[in-house]
Amino acid sequence: MSARVIDGKDAARASNARVAAALAELKSTHGLVPGLTVVLVGDNPASKVYVANKKREARAAGFNSTAHRLPATASQAEVLATVGRLNADKSVHGILVQLPLPRQMDAQAVIAALDPAKDVDGFHAVNTGLLWGAGGGLVPCTPQGCMLLLRRATDKIAGSHAVVLGRSSIVGKPLAALLLGADCTVTVAHSKTRDLPAVCRQADILIAAVGRPEMVRGGWVKPGAVVIDVGINRKADGKLVGDVAFAEAAEVAGAITPVPGGVGPMTIACLLRNTLIAACRQAGLPAPAL
Ligand code: NDP
Repeated sequence: MSARVIDGKDAARASNARVAAALAELKSTHGLVPGLTVVLVGDNPASKVYVANKKREARAAGFNSTAHRLPATASQAEVLATVGRLNADKSVHGILVQLPLPRQMDAQAVIAALDPAKDVDGFHAVNTGLLWGAGGGLVPCTPQGCMLLLRRATDKIAGSHAVVLGRSSIVGKPLAALLLGADCTVTVAHSKTRDLPAVCRQADILIAAVGRPEMVRGGWVKPGAVVIDVGINRKADGKLVGDVAFAEAAEVAGAITPVPGGVGPMTIACLLRNTLIAACRQAGLPAPAL
């Protein structure tokens, strides 16, 4: 293996320590304890694990962290009423609605009901608009985490050709906006892209977010490229793998994230960063440099 492994756990630990220090300062100087609330509807087992992890990490960093649970049979009106109450609650600075929501629910309508200032997932249309426009909104956590890992891996982001595999609203599209903002030349590829391997081989920075286990082969990677693997896929034997065939790609890439231990830990770390930023803004304080 020739590639340097980009350690997401270490990056997340470092980020969480900075957030915890800023939080302690906020508490001692302004008596402010930022609050994060996760809304969980139904009992999707994976969602329950994600919510428990978020709550644990948030508490460990010093946030006031709570979860609101509604049954899978809850109506859209009940979820909207919960969001309305949390929007009005001054002790809650960040609200995250855990996705996916049960089938009967219109997830877009629920996200649209969030106060954009408390939308720590960064999915509200106001935050999406700011991401593609003037900036200054809350930036979606997984793409934000990818950028932090990228900055750890290389100081040659500006001017690089970045290829993003996947165009979802939660990963691919916001990542494209962030890479463009970092002065990359950006190609967004998807299921209708012709000759995907050839497109990927042009990438100085290759980011895979397709949800297809080990789809990106070693031969798709340009020698020396930085490869960020967002995918989390469980194989039939229970093993977790990314969207990139790690062993093959690591022979060719300059740096690469592992799965697990790459992008995953950064997603929660960025949720904590967003909640801290949201709390400072709501209190009229400058956001600390993280
Ligand atoms: P989506 O299913 O919403 O989007 C997948 C994207 O990949 C789509 O744009 C789709 O194209 C494209 N795609 C699918 N198959 C192919 C293919 N064969 N060739 C080219 N493009 C393809 O997924 P998400 O963006 O939500 O998630 C992507 C992956 O990232 C998943 O594995 C998910 O588990 C993981 N993830 C990890 C997170 C973390 O914290 N590490 C957080 C969020 C997601 P088209 O638009 O044409 O259909």
